[in-house]
Amino acid sequence: MPELAEVEFSRQQWNPGLGEKIISIHLHSQKRIFRGTSTALLARTIQGRYLRSSHAHGKQMLFRFGSNAWLGLHLGMTGRLSTATTSHSPRSHEHLVLRTARHSLIFQDPRLFGRVRFDLSPQPPSWWSKLPPPLHSPKFSKQKLQTICSRRSRAPLKALLLMQQFFPGIGNWMADEILWQTQLSPRTQAGLLSQKSISNLHAYIRKICRVALRTIGQGKSTPPRSWLFRHRWKAGRHCPRCHHSLERAPIGGRTTCWCPVCQPPTPLPRATPR
Ligand SMILES: [Zn+2]
Repeated sequence: MPELAEVEFSRQQWNPGLGEKIISIHLHSQKRIFRGTSTALLARTIQGRYLRSSHAHGKQMLFRFGSNAWLGLHLGMTGRLSTATTSHSPRSHEHLVLRTARHSLIFQDPRLFGRVRFDLSPQPPSWWSKLPPPLHSPKFSKQKLQTICSRRSRAPLKALLLMQQFFPGIGNWMADEILWQTQLSPRTQAGLLSQKSISNLHAYIRKICRVALRTIGQGKSTPPRSWLFRHRWKAGRHCPRCHHSLERAPIGGRTTCWCPVCQPPTPLPRATPR
């Protein structure tokens, strides 16, 4: 499933259409990706408008047409954005195609877990403005992480990092990478972290987001060779730090990869003697 950096890369795929006027629209209005959205309003409004800007935030994207028309896209599991020539003939899984004089801006989604939203308002729609602060912005503070950990104190760290209401854009591989680099077990409960561990976790969340956006987000290269990312899918799977075999098991509903040596379980605090 696309995470923060893959979504940023997807957003850029429609860049050739920036500043261009939409002259026609092709869409499959019955598909569930349009649930809750008036496709008639979308088609009627966007036609004749210019694509003015695009934004990515966590796993969400927002495209502005003219001054007040907002197209929201979520890639789900198999969504993809691309650009083709204006004469392109849409294929069966290309559910939204916006044509300019020079380009076709394509949203395809074979498995239909994605979502298309449309809003008309002078300001960005409320579902967008209510998103939590981006993890690489100063608004995602250590204090904020501390509050999240105490509110969800029983949650294993892996499950916690996948909660989009707190960590927008973090998915399976990024959560594993963050915990491996911070040397915290994915099963450790959030409430057991010391101040020092919270500081470390905060620093690594921000670092991994920044580097992922700079590498995968630009489509130019993969993350550094020292990252777990480069080793987790290899046959034999060894930890790039200590060379012990990596473990794999479902945690927080997702297949998790970690090193049992670098990420030992955090011992539960001893009960206070009576
Ligand atoms: Zn290791």
